[in-house]
Amino acid sequence: MSQPLRIVDAIPLPPAGAPVVARARREDAYPVYVCTTIEETLTRLAGFVDGGAVAVITDEIVESLYGSVLLRSLRASGAEPLVRVLPAGEPSKSLDQAVAAWHWLAASDIARRDVLVAFGGGVVADLGGWVASAYMRGIPYVNVPTTLLAQVDGALGGKVAANHPVAKNLLGAFHAPTAVIAGTPFLRTSSTRHLRAGLAEAIKKAVIASPAYWDFIDTHAGAILARDDAALARLVHAAAAIKTALIERDPYERDLRRPLNFGHTIGHPLETVTGYGPLLHGEAVSFGMAVEARIAHARGVLDPAVLEALIGLLRRCGLPTEAADLPVPVDGEAVIAAMEKVRQIRAGSLRYVLPVALGETLIADDVDEAEVRDALAASGVALAESAVR
Ligand code: NAD
Repeated sequence: MSQPLRIVDAIPLPPAGAPVVARARREDAYPVYVCTTIEETLTRLAGFVDGGAVAVITDEIVESLYGSVLLRSLRASGAEPLVRVLPAGEPSKSLDQAVAAWHWLAASDIARRDVLVAFGGGVVADLGGWVASAYMRGIPYVNVPTTLLAQVDGALGGKVAANHPVAKNLLGAFHAPTAVIAGTPFLRTSSTRHLRAGLAEAIKKAVIASPAYWDFIDTHAGAILARDDAALARLVHAAAAIKTALIERDPYERDLRRPLNFGHTIGHPLETVTGYGPLLHGEAVSFGMAVEARIAHARGVLDPAVLEALIGLLRRCGLPTEAADLPVPVDGEAVIAAMEKVRQIRAGSLRYVLPVALGETLIADDVDEAEVRDALAASGVALAESAVR
């Protein structure tokens, strides 16, 4: 017979009119592994699945390349995987795909303590994490990122989301994974374009936080793009350490002045106006970093030599720094309008992360439209004739 359980001392009535303050604390900690063989990656994953039901969310390309080896490994560890395969690409990061995944989970045997595995690029990590965050008010999930972008950024940090036609990542949550298990051999099959896009997020971290990481990328860009195993493992491992150190200070973004947003104030609206897809996230961030660095330079806060070095490294990595480099035409007026929408969402303030030197940024919330227009024009973006100063 079970014992009666008294959880707290009997609670007295409060004095009449006494203020009531509800407090909730949350702390998440999770390991990030960088594995250099697929076998090691899957063995690590099996350790977090621990038998039982597993919900795997992946996309069609990752499934076709690695689905069978993943399933074999999960089954060998005693797990019973259910698999949901999304169409590949950014359009899958949608409310519709999340709703369909919740219906799928609701029809399954997945229970509160079972694990969801997000197996793919940043789209799968963001959508899978958001699905996990809301299902049964939050089930555990493990990120197994398979693109460079997801390994150096998207799978880390617990920010999960879907896009909305009005703004990128408008729907989402903070839901930390149970573990992140990055396998660098997955990058052998990633397209060169996606590899380059992933490098943009690594270069961003170097600019905002780490001259040593900058030197590493500057020296090893060729080896990274040639998919040298050791260079990739170092790149991913260091990115995990840098991103973790940066977000540890404010994991739930109470303070919106976040250096990690470098390149995103311009980059996200660019993705919105080009319809989420034709322009890769990393490409948008690369172009956004170039425009935002030009704003910093025009303000006199960024040394021209650093601006030149940044543009030079991005170009050497095959990343866009001018409108002519982008795979789609960009309407500058639409970008300005989309930024206005983000300003409204952010209660009237649009923050820019402006680089000052390698490893140093300042956050400006007083960048005016004329400065943005000048920097867009200097980057070759078409603006309405009358609006260009
Ligand atoms: P993605 O997930 O669409 O993957 C890119 C392409 O690579 C897809 O076609 C995919 O099928 C394919 N692919 C994946 N792994 C592969 C492999 N091993 N071999 C061959 N092909 C493979 O895109 P992405 O660039 O990985 O991620 C972009 C997303 O990440 C964006 O939505 C962005 O907003 C998000 N993101 C989130 C965060 C965050 O903190 N949550 C940070 C940065 C980016």
